[in-house]
This record gives sequence, C-alpha cells and structure tokens, in this order.
Amino acid sequence: MKLHRTHIARAFLLVLAFFSVLATAYSQAQPDYSRVEIKTTKVADNFYTLEGQGGMIGILVGPDGVFMVDSQFAPLTGKIVAAVKQITGEPIRFMVNTHQHPDHTGGNENLGKMGVIIVGRDELRKRLAEGAPAVNGAGGRAPAPVAALPLITYEGKLTFHMDGEDVELIPIPRAHTDGDTIVRFPKANVIMTGDFYRSVGYPNIDRANGGTLSGTIEGLAHVVSLAAPDTKIIPGHGPTVSRVEVSACRDMVVDVRDRIAQLMRQGKSVADVIAAHPTAAYDAKVPQAADTSERFVTQVYAELKPVITGSGQ
Ligand SMILES: [Zn+2]
Repeated sequence: MKLHRTHIARAFLLVLAFFSVLATAYSQAQPDYSRVEIKTTKVADNFYTLEGQGGMIGILVGPDGVFMVDSQFAPLTGKIVAAVKQITGEPIRFMVNTHQHPDHTGGNENLGKMGVIIVGRDELRKRLAEGAPAVNGAGGRAPAPVAALPLITYEGKLTFHMDGEDVELIPIPRAHTDGDTIVRFPKANVIMTGDFYRSVGYPNIDRANGGTLSGTIEGLAHVVSLAAPDTKIIPGHGPTVSRVEVSACRDMVVDVRDRIAQLMRQGKSVADVIAAHPTAAYDAKVPQAADTSERFVTQVYAELKPVITGSGQ
C-alpha cells in the first residue's frame, strides 16, 4: 500500500513537471511582443542597428532608400518600421535574410506586403517555402506564404550599389544553416554575420537545416579575413565585436573540436564526452556558457561521429 502511494505521488510529480515544462516552452515560444521596445544604435554615418526581440537588424540609410538586414518577429514589424521612420523618410527598399530562422525572417511577410524586395540564398528560399525541420528538437515550421519569400535569390556574391555604399552579400556555405549570408558594408566598415557567429553563447550548429561544424569554422575564418582591425562586426545575437573576438571564437571552436575528437578516439560516448566538459577552459569567458555548452558539444560530437567511428549517428 505504501509503495502504491509512493507510485501515485511520483506519477503526480511527473505530471506536474510535464506541465511546467510545457508552460516554460510556451512562454519561451510566445514572448509578450507588446512589451518589446526597439533600441536604435548609430554604428556609422548612415548605418544603424535595431535591437528588439530576436536577431539583430541592420539598416543602411540614404537617398536611394533603406537597405535592411533581417526582419525579427512578425508582431514587431510596426515598431521596426516606426524606428526606421525616426531615422529616415526614405522607404525600406530591400531586405536580406542572413539565414532562415524565425527570429530573423518572422517579419518577412509584413515587409513583403509593404513592397519591400526580399533577398536571400536559394537554399533559404527553399527552406522557407517548404517549411523547416525542427531545430534541435524545438519544433519545425510550416511553409511560409509567398509574400514572405525572397523575390531575388543568389548563389554567389551579390552587390547592391546604393546610398554611396557597395553592400556585399557573401554566401557562407553550410555554417549555422545551409543558407547563411554575411552582409558587408565596406565604407561603413561593418560586417553582419548572421548566427554562425554570436558573441553570447557557444555556436549553435543547426544540423537539421544543413549547418555544419566545418562550415562554421570556415565562416569564422572568412569574417576574420574580410575585417580590418577597426571593422565593427555585428553578430546575429550579442554585442558588436572586432575581429579579435571572432578570431578567438574560431580558435576556441577548433580546440573544443580537437578535445572532443580525442575523447571519441578513446571510445567515449556522447554522455561521457559531455561529462568530461570539453568547453571548461572557455566557460568563464563565454556569456551564457552554461545554457549552450552541452548543445554545442552534442552538435560537434554528432558531426565527428561518422568520421571517427566510421558510422552514422
Ligand atoms: Zn539562427
């Protein structure tokens, strides 16, 4: 009887835990956008960032209209457009997505319906049009409406000559996803990386959407090679940095990869590797390390597994 009661209590606790997890997931998925304020920062003479909820937005302004990078979440479009109007009376003409995640593309449909020309990689358009698989177990996404899709797609580098700037869209193959783009503003001396570089947390390699560890390392090296010592590098998430930080991030990723590979060659399982804490040397320097270390280690392990053990995951 006593045992029985313990079982019931345990089951009850499990049910409680289940609902609290659900409630947490729901509150994370449904932030209160009405409370979000858009913070505008002037980065160069005619270049600003707009911070709200989700990925960082960048805008180039001038007589030829606004060139915008990423669109955050749909409920924020009104506030974002209002923030742009505070800076310039010119319309938003073009918007490029650095990659297809909802916190960077959620406002696409609203902007598309306003007549903004959306630009993105072929792979990104395909992912948006067809829907996307779950990101690290966080749920998939339904196909996006036509208005949310890029009107113009590209395979190689694409340049926009406007507002006295030569805006370069530089594809980075298979890094955070398979549709990543760096956006470089050479005269403003700004590079926007999207999410394969972030200045908070360890890298997040979305393998379900075509991201890879090797592509992430190459992307980081490419940013370093494009940047001058005083270039402002604006990550998808986190504060603006210089190439010193991006270079250190690349070295860290290579070092953690090598540590994980060594453990795997000793026959360690993914649980063993996580327990060995291969990011320990960096945790003190990486903001939000505790929330992102295990995810990163698991992603690296999954990518190395076929190479080291000769089998898939
Ligand atoms: Zn992302």
